[in-house]
Amino acid sequence: MTNSYDVIVIGAGPAGYVGAIRCAQLGMRVAVIDEYRRKDGEPSLGGTCLNVGCIPSKALLDSSEHYHRVQSQLGQHGIKVDGVSLDVPQMIKRKDKVVADLTGGIKQLFKANDIEWLQGHGKLLADRQVAFKPHKGKEKTLSADNIILATGSRPIEIGAAPLTGDRIVSSTGAQEFQEVPKRLGVIGAGVIGLEMGSVWNRLGSKVVLLEAQDSFLTPVDQQVAREAKKLFAKQGLEIRQGCRVTETRDGKNISVHYEDKDGKQHMQVDRLVVSVGRRPNTDGLASEDADLLTDERGFVHVNDYCETNIPGVYAVGDVVRGPMLAHKGSEEGVMVAERMAGHAGHVNYDTIPWVIYTDPEIAWVGRTEAQLKAAGIPHRSGTFGFGATGRARAMDQSDGMVKIIAHAETDRILGVHMVGPQTSELIAEATLAMEYEASAEDLARTIHAHPTLSEAVHEAALAVDKRAIHKAN
Ligand code: FAD
Ligand code: AMP
Repeated sequence: MTNSYDVIVIGAGPAGYVGAIRCAQLGMRVAVIDEYRRKDGEPSLGGTCLNVGCIPSKALLDSSEHYHRVQSQLGQHGIKVDGVSLDVPQMIKRKDKVVADLTGGIKQLFKANDIEWLQGHGKLLADRQVAFKPHKGKEKTLSADNIILATGSRPIEIGAAPLTGDRIVSSTGAQEFQEVPKRLGVIGAGVIGLEMGSVWNRLGSKVVLLEAQDSFLTPVDQQVAREAKKLFAKQGLEIRQGCRVTETRDGKNISVHYEDKDGKQHMQVDRLVVSVGRRPNTDGLASEDADLLTDERGFVHVNDYCETNIPGVYAVGDVVRGPMLAHKGSEEGVMVAERMAGHAGHVNYDTIPWVIYTDPEIAWVGRTEAQLKAAGIPHRSGTFGFGATGRARAMDQSDGMVKIIAHAETDRILGVHMVGPQTSELIAEATLAMEYEASAEDLARTIHAHPTLSEAVHEAALAVDKRAIHKAN
């Protein structure tokens, strides 16, 4: 092992490992330091996203959706299924295998790109040096021309609900239950809380989500959020808003005490998930004399190009400002690598798609109606319900809608918001349209295959100009 590299990346999540691969593609000699270890103690690449985030949560969402469909939806298709039963440990085992396969894939990619994987803790020192403390062995000092900080984030913990390991848990623990809790409480009805709540609700838990804010899904276009909330209620997901959790007591049951507009309340649950957001991993990330600037919430301070205050030191992903999304971090990793190599990498922060993988899925890109109103930007919008598309009807998944918002004068698309089947895939068309600065008319004049769910996008674009075909305008 040499001590000197072109690039050292600290953190092998989707921001760090993607940045590392792009650096290697551009001819740089790269080392990646990562300290993550699986529950069996083995090091594993991929960070939060692959090990305990995006991938395992989607694996469980998929498994639980199959179970729910078989239980309650196949009958309408004329398919009778008797004796369905649930094997939760097998479901968790399959999830673990998906994770192991994908993280193993990154290991192969590192090999193929000659990237050195250093298993242990990394700390930024002054003068572009890094202290590397391996899981086994003595600390070493490494140096590099450029350093990328990509240490990600971890769940926020609250004093009112301290984690207990297996009963009061974060999103990580919520992916490890070996049986279905009869009653599941979730603190925080954000993206992660809704996804975890959906998994266990589909498998049979009575799920109650306690949300501090009075509004539901504040970052989402409120027309879409209202529609989603109605659909979640139909599934039995109970969302209580304006609830401030004050105390939890872990006895035979877990007692959750909270206050809402009517005063003090409490509920009893068998398991509790705390999903109130995430915070950046910057504690002890840099030595004092490295002089790394962080903001008041602990995020590494960066400019639009992810350059920190130290020349040659970059920071990408959840550890810096912006949405905590894997693809946002990956794009930042690519941008930084390309700029190091003298190319013109950039990230368009206005066209980052968001997805909440509930059923139906919620997806959006660009600005909401409320944001446009607040900014005084003249706009008009068109909506179209999936119920009026043949494909959604044939699939028996006709809940939800697409909403397209365009500039009132130029017709340029400013935001696209969806709730409905497979909107995680449909949002890609909207993102591409916005990246190309398309108008609603451009989408309206694009031929969409029939019968597909994408016809709802087409019709919503037509609806902006009040000429949707399959609805009264
Ligand atoms: P991380 O993935 O957090 O990786 C950072 C890595 O750095 C970790 O391996 C960590 O151990 C390591 N590290 C930290 N400090 C050090 C150090 N000092 N030395 C060495 N190593 C260190 N995003 C999506 O886009 N789509 C989704 O569907 C989605 N679902 C999610 C579901 C859940 C349950 C959770 C928790 C998150 C989800 N996210 C999703 C968010 C996504 O996981 C993060 O945005 C993404 O992982 C951030 O990537 P990152 O590379 O910045 O950091
Ligand atoms: P997300 O960041 O999308 O996972 O969302 C986290 C959610 O948790 C947001 O909707 C927050 O309003 C909510 N939240 C934050 N703190 C609390 C709290 N103490 N009690 C209940 N909800 C909270």
